[in-house]
Amino acid sequence: MGSMLFTLHWFDSIRSGERRAYPYRMETHDDGAQLTENEPDEPETGEPHALPVAELHLHIEGTLEPELIFALAERNGIELPYADLDELRSRYEFTDLQSFLDLYYANMAVLQTEQDFADMTRAYLARAALAGVRHAEIMLDPQAHLSRGISLATCVNGVASVLAGSREEFGISTLLIAAFLRDLTEDSALEVLEQLLAMDAPIAGIGLDSAEVGNPPAKFERLFARAKDAGLHRIAHAGEEGPPSYIIDALDILEVERIDHGIRCMEDPELVERLVDELVPLTVCPLSNVRLRAVDTLAEHPLPAMLAAGLNVCVNSDDPAYFGGYVDDNFAQLKSVIGLSEFDCVRMAANSIRSSFASEERKAELLAELAASGH
Ligand SMILES: [Zn+2]
Repeated sequence: MGSMLFTLHWFDSIRSGERRAYPYRMETHDDGAQLTENEPDEPETGEPHALPVAELHLHIEGTLEPELIFALAERNGIELPYADLDELRSRYEFTDLQSFLDLYYANMAVLQTEQDFADMTRAYLARAALAGVRHAEIMLDPQAHLSRGISLATCVNGVASVLAGSREEFGISTLLIAAFLRDLTEDSALEVLEQLLAMDAPIAGIGLDSAEVGNPPAKFERLFARAKDAGLHRIAHAGEEGPPSYIIDALDILEVERIDHGIRCMEDPELVERLVDELVPLTVCPLSNVRLRAVDTLAEHPLPAMLAAGLNVCVNSDDPAYFGGYVDDNFAQLKSVIGLSEFDCVRMAANSIRSSFASEERKAELLAELAASGH
């Protein structure tokens, strides 16, 4: 096997067309592979600075770009069921949440070592910095790796080793959130949570994700009670594909502090009123909703109605490598397709910062940066 070089580009064929050189390249040699820093692009004159935001709904496994999948597969000697990048990208047409999850879990096979998890995390942070992200609360799904025979220490330490230096290296403060797969049992989740607590894993909170319908919040009442006892923050996906009642149960039974997605709240006016009154943050992911057919087109997305109702919404990328873009791509398409105003963009950026679990001092710093950003 000879020496190979992958130069990674964002906005590749599944994106809207614009290309921007990736700040790292993956060099694969006979004795292994590593990410090497590229010379930074000269910013194009007149290019607007990205809006400073907090990203609150992001699955680190969903940042695994096709190029990195191939590079890590080669490094680990894993045969992929796709001949090339184009064939892999052709699989990114999803019909629903489950069709995405099938590909998502299959691609995780390339994540084997701490270094793999670290490289994936570094790649996200480098791209997120370009997108304007200044604070990120990153979900990791330990059960998706344990079930493949990857230890908790490998996945947690791999991600956490990079997050520890992210403020200095990328200007992004970060928190790690352990998310649990709601299609598995509560006992499985409780066991993993106990292990995370026993190893003193650097997690700030827990989340609940994966297949929503048929796996209501009540299934995880004990898990969330345990997390509360342990002093952890609590969030849950609800009202993406599941009904508005899942949002109510996540608030009342799981006592979550934020709802991930939550778009189906709009079907229940009484619930909307409550969410507005209680300022409950909803981490909306517009491009994800379109890609997974939760809404038919971006033009029909409920976000404008949610803003008009006074809901505490912010914009996030969810699984950006799979859904057509990072936070800046979400904002750009919201502006071009539904005519989202600059005022609403700034309002949601402020919502994202206020709804984060960052320290009050960090929030004040980021709100000051937003005010001074000229947006
Ligand atoms: Zn999500």
